[in-house]
Amino acid sequence: MIDFQIPEETRLLVDTVRRFVENEVQPLEEEMEAREGLAPEVLAGLKAKAIGLGLFAMNMPEEVGGGGLSAVEMCLVEEQLGKTTEALIRNIFGQVYEMLTTCRGRQREEYLFPSVRGERICAFGITEPEAGSDAASIRTTAVRDGDDYVLNGSKHFISDGDIADFAVVMALTDPEKRARGGITLFLVDRDTPGYRVGRVQPMMGHLGCNHAELVFENCRVGADKVLGEPGEGFRLIMSTVSRVRLAHIGARSVGMATRVLELARNHAAERRQFGQPIGEFQMVQKMLADMATDIFAARMMILNTAWELDQGRDPRDKLSMVKVYASEMMNRVADQGIQVFGGMGWCKELPLERVYRDSRVLRIYDGTSEIHRMLIARNLLRNGFALEGDHV
Ligand SMILES: Cc1cc2nc3c(=O)[nH]c(=O)nc-3n(C[C@H](O)[C@H](O)[C@H](O)COP(=O)(O)OP(=O)(O)OC[C@H]3O[C@@H](n4cnc5c(N)ncnc54)[C@H](O)[C@@H]3O)c2cc1C
Repeated sequence: MIDFQIPEETRLLVDTVRRFVENEVQPLEEEMEAREGLAPEVLAGLKAKAIGLGLFAMNMPEEVGGGGLSAVEMCLVEEQLGKTTEALIRNIFGQVYEMLTTCRGRQREEYLFPSVRGERICAFGITEPEAGSDAASIRTTAVRDGDDYVLNGSKHFISDGDIADFAVVMALTDPEKRARGGITLFLVDRDTPGYRVGRVQPMMGHLGCNHAELVFENCRVGADKVLGEPGEGFRLIMSTVSRVRLAHIGARSVGMATRVLELARNHAAERRQFGQPIGEFQMVQKMLADMATDIFAARMMILNTAWELDQGRDPRDKLSMVKVYASEMMNRVADQGIQVFGGMGWCKELPLERVYRDSRVLRIYDGTSEIHRMLIARNLLRNGFALEGDHV
């Protein structure tokens, strides 16, 4: 039996998040954009409030202090978070990487628990100037020296790289093996000698949240800083990105697109030209209808894939399809939203031009549209088309 009902408890949680975002977070968007940041005490106050309401690190398991939400619940919550900006989400609700659950022994006290409590910020360093889509071609090395590893290399575009207290850094421990057992993840504290934050890289959007270079020069860390098993870093990353793709990219896109559609719908009803509301013109109606249809399609793909994850399946192809479809849907909706508003859509007095800029990166990070299409096609050619995730 297929049951699309959302349990009352989940509905209440989603409603709490929705009200928090609408009443407390959205009013800060303009200032965050204009100043590319907010007074630290304002952000700290809201973060404390989110923590108090149990709205921080909701993606993390309950046993480590997180919200323990299922993938479906997480997507429904992320739809609400998506209705505000990336910078505000990161600062208030936290971006705790699920791979930290791999922490063992003392690592749990030093990295996992403080991150879940919102006391420490983690950056995640994979990408390098010479290694983007082809992540396994990284040049950063970690050479074993007695009980230590010595890291050399640099990363770029690292979100929150400038403010992170520590970084999970992907490095080569066996250049011959690379993705097949030669890549290791390290937990590196910001104050480790040889760890340096390089330039903050100016970006088109996400104002108020920075992306920076990280540089490692003879940066020495103990073997106890290996996250997971030595050589297993690539596999570990691949096994923990599912919910990021689904919730952060997919569900947030649905939330933001829904906000754009609401604005467009209201405008189409109120704005009059040629003596009538523009919503009575069929070409404007087409834009509204296409936006609604696109959002619905993405939402169904996301919730179905989330459900499969909750069943313990491995819907890899669907995750790639969600990544492609939701990110491109968001770009189409942002574009149409602006078109419905005409000149006002392009004006900074409305959030639409920001949404348009911020949406663009969704097709680039966490695997570009081209890379995900390649993965979908490769599996399709090899194994045929299976929508129940049973060939992956
Ligand atoms: C705002 C922002 C935040 C980011 N945050 C982080 C972060 O926190 N941590 C981190 O590690 N990284 C981060 N990244 C990096 C991001 O993951 C990469 O930008 C992304 O993987 C693409 O790599 P690239 O930019 O080097 O592009 P490239 O890999 O150089 O790709 C350039 C073009 O070539 C195409 N292409 C490449 N290979 C193929 C192929 N095989 N087939 C077809 N087309 C192909 C691509 O699709 C793209 O169109 C961030 C990036 C941005 C912009």
